[in-house]
Amino acid sequence: MSFYAAPIAKLIEEFNKLPGIGNKTAQRLAFHILNGSKENAYNLSEAIIEAKEKIKHCSICYNITDTDPCDICKDPKRDNKTLCVVQVPRDIFAIEKTREFKGKYHVLHGAISPMEGIGPNEIYIKELLARLQNTKVKELILATNPTIEGEATAMYIGKLVKPLGIKVTRLASGIPIGGDLEYTDEITLIKALEGRREL
Ligand SMILES: [Zn+2]
Repeated sequence: MSFYAAPIAKLIEEFNKLPGIGNKTAQRLAFHILNGSKENAYNLSEAIIEAKEKIKHCSICYNITDTDPCDICKDPKRDNKTLCVVQVPRDIFAIEKTREFKGKYHVLHGAISPMEGIGPNEIYIKELLARLQNTKVKELILATNPTIEGEATAMYIGKLVKPLGIKVTRLASGIPIGGDLEYTDEITLIKALEGRREL
């Protein structure tokens, strides 16, 4: 039983389904919308529907896009020889922010996780391999997360791609800038030692 009128209760319920939104925040957002203008409410609902309807996967890299191919795949200034493999589209935005990477991407939309029943066929690995056939790609950067799932996915792809004669690299992981050696966990320290480079 809700103390609120049905339409308000429904709005709160919908906000409550969003990640990181608890009951209190859901109520605050619902009342924010109710107290705002009709125009703002329409704009918000329209933006949600428009994003949902217009955004699709790029048929080359599987990034989310409203044009196919996406802007990155279409860009003639980008290097076709380096391909960076990421788990989710948000990872592309993170890497693009650095302005360091000028190659292209491939989005897996997940990582191999036997615990969650996600096998190699549930993510875009087949599509990556198909893309690498008769390709100009010289280096494949496996930028999956440094988690058990991300590492397993990188190992799996690495094994399949190396016989194609393509250089396979993994993002270095280690001690964060400004971090303290003393407070760094063991696995991070091991990875940092493995990934050491000459000064
Ligand atoms: Zn694309």
